[in-house]
Amino acid sequence: MAVRQAAGPVTRRGTRMVRVRAIAAVRRSVGRWRARGERIAFVPTMGAIHAGHLSLVRRARATAERVVASLFVNPLQFGPGEDFRSYPRPRRRDRERLAAAGVDLLWEPAVTDLYPPGHCTRVRVVGLSDVLEGASRPGHFEGVATVVTALLHVVSPDVLWLGQKDAQQARLIERMVVDLRLAVRVRRAPTVREADGLALSSRNAYLSADERRQAVALSRGLKAASRLLHAGERSAVRLRAAIRRTWRAYPKVREDYVAVVDASTLAPLARVRGRALVAVAARVGPARLIDNFEWGPR
Ligand code: AMP
Repeated sequence: MAVRQAAGPVTRRGTRMVRVRAIAAVRRSVGRWRARGERIAFVPTMGAIHAGHLSLVRRARATAERVVASLFVNPLQFGPGEDFRSYPRPRRRDRERLAAAGVDLLWEPAVTDLYPPGHCTRVRVVGLSDVLEGASRPGHFEGVATVVTALLHVVSPDVLWLGQKDAQQARLIERMVVDLRLAVRVRRAPTVREADGLALSSRNAYLSADERRQAVALSRGLKAASRLLHAGERSAVRLRAAIRRTWRAYPKVREDYVAVVDASTLAPLARVRGRALVAVAARVGPARLIDNFEWGPR
């Protein structure tokens, strides 16, 4: 396999971010750092880097001496008719942003690097994969679990940083790491939002100006549910109704799901007790957006 190693833009520490494609090159860099006793934090991304991704990098920096990030639009997690082809890929800008945030090694694998000819191994996290996002996007989490397993085997980080924005994905990977006895600590970072509350997402780029204004419905609905929880409401039916009531003012927002589930098992709750996940998904114009918050003791 050809090893392509390019000196990327300059990182905040003044060193150059190294950019590689080949698995062997990732292993060499990580091996060198590990031999010196340095810890490795890993931030996997699909690119179209925004402040949410950069907050993960900043947290990663605080938990390890070295930060590895990956840019890979994973075909296996997109269903037929989804946006794999049109997913934004502003690579040059991504590299600059990741370097400025302090990434030491940026891994940009090609599809054939992660899926060699004839590949047929899949990782499935049973149950957690089949609800919420998994119910709307069959096969999505098998694609996620399979690629994250491969990424973790190559990078072998001490810490893996994920965003609360994709709560089900984070939960599933936490479970998988326990079940497969992977030697990595999984950490979650809070959702970074626009000033009006909209969760940052690479898919927000699909929104027209009017759709962008309406997209705030997701976080507004969650705010309404959160206010009710603070006021003592525990009925999942009433919490979901409050979100849907909020959404009535936003005609371009088409519900996919509004759910109140156990944050660990993702099983539906009739009443909120323990730690709960309030999660929503909706289509706004061409974009399918998700958002959530967790409530209660960890
Ligand atoms: P993606 O590039 O969409 O696959 O996301 C890469 C990582 O960034 C995942 O762990 C996401 O959960 C996380 N992420 C995406 N959006 C946000 C956000 N608004 N705030 C914090 N983390 C995020």
